[in-house]
Amino acid sequence: MSDSVKRLIRPEIQAIAAYHVPDASGMIKLDAMENPYSLPPALQQALGQQLQAAALNRYPDPGGQRVKQALASQIDLPAGYELLLGNGSDELIQMLMLACAKSGATVLAPEPSFVMYRMVATWCGLDYVGVDLQADFSLDMPMMLQAIEAHQPALTFLAYPNNPTGNLFAQEDLRAILAAADGWVVIDEAYAPFASHSCAQWLAEYPNLLLMRTLSKLGLAGLRLGYLAGPAACLAELDKVRMPYNINVLTQVSVACLLEHSHVFAQQAEEICVQRQWLLDKLAALGLQAVPSEANFVLLRCADQDQALAWFAALQAAGILVKCLAKAHDLLHNCLRITIGTPEENQAFIAALAQIRA
Ligand SMILES: *Cc1c(COP(=O)(O)O)cnc(C)c1O
Repeated sequence: MSDSVKRLIRPEIQAIAAYHVPDASGMIKLDAMENPYSLPPALQQALGQQLQAAALNRYPDPGGQRVKQALASQIDLPAGYELLLGNGSDELIQMLMLACAKSGATVLAPEPSFVMYRMVATWCGLDYVGVDLQADFSLDMPMMLQAIEAHQPALTFLAYPNNPTGNLFAQEDLRAILAAADGWVVIDEAYAPFASHSCAQWLAEYPNLLLMRTLSKLGLAGLRLGYLAGPAACLAELDKVRMPYNINVLTQVSVACLLEHSHVFAQQAEEICVQRQWLLDKLAALGLQAVPSEANFVLLRCADQDQALAWFAALQAAGILVKCLAKAHDLLHNCLRITIGTPEENQAFIAALAQIRA
């Protein structure tokens, strides 16, 4: 490492690994919870016309008003509540943490969960406390409540459904955390399109609840748009650490156009849920253990860590990229995460897996 890097870069940044995105060219890509379907031709046409007319010489609308109006089709806001837009919900996580990064302030999250909670906390100089889930991936409530009491976290992040485990936490556990926490509790509903329950109706009930969603898993990962619902007074402060023009012109035009056809994405989500059940049934028929899922992926439990690593490599050799979690957390030591693909992709995955085990 060069002298200046060693001298100038904060040690905690030097200590972390960059967010790694593997090369997937030519592979069946079941690693990143993308929607496998592209836009129907009619919608491609409609979008093309809108994009042709986009004013790329101008800065975008700083408030993203048309986008916010379009998002009204996705979420009901109580009186006094507003939306804050992010360049993906990743950027919202960063805004939340930047704004709360007082000396000694803490971020709390269960583990394993979304890796960006810990990573962004490190970037922003916040203390991070992770509380392990129980073996069945439910919240360890005595430990969560003890951590809230001991650390008084400014921010608690709960992915609902959780990534990478795919389950919904118990509603009474979430309510107990909302009641116990003095800080904000961010319920991250990135997988809401595939889940049987949402906490959106709770917004009016808990002043410390912030609800975060994204269009990424719905089928628009390339646009980078996340949104946070919360009390206007809170969002007004967070808005001060938002980069001006964070939502670019092409994204704003696209979202306004595409959400007029939100039934297309709702239908794709439904199909993905049907395929999720198909995949779970096939895995069960192969005598394999998978965790029931409320998201657009399933967690497959191999016999042990060695088998998880071996199957990951063999699938990769067969042209199928999944996510290997065997080294991500002790509770995942034997786990692979498989994003639901098209029926053909899922069939190819099952065929490859059957072959590997033969
Ligand atoms: C994928 C994911 C996100 C990130 O979404 P972007 O909007 O694409 O940044 C946030 N939270 C969870 C739990 C996720 O799995």
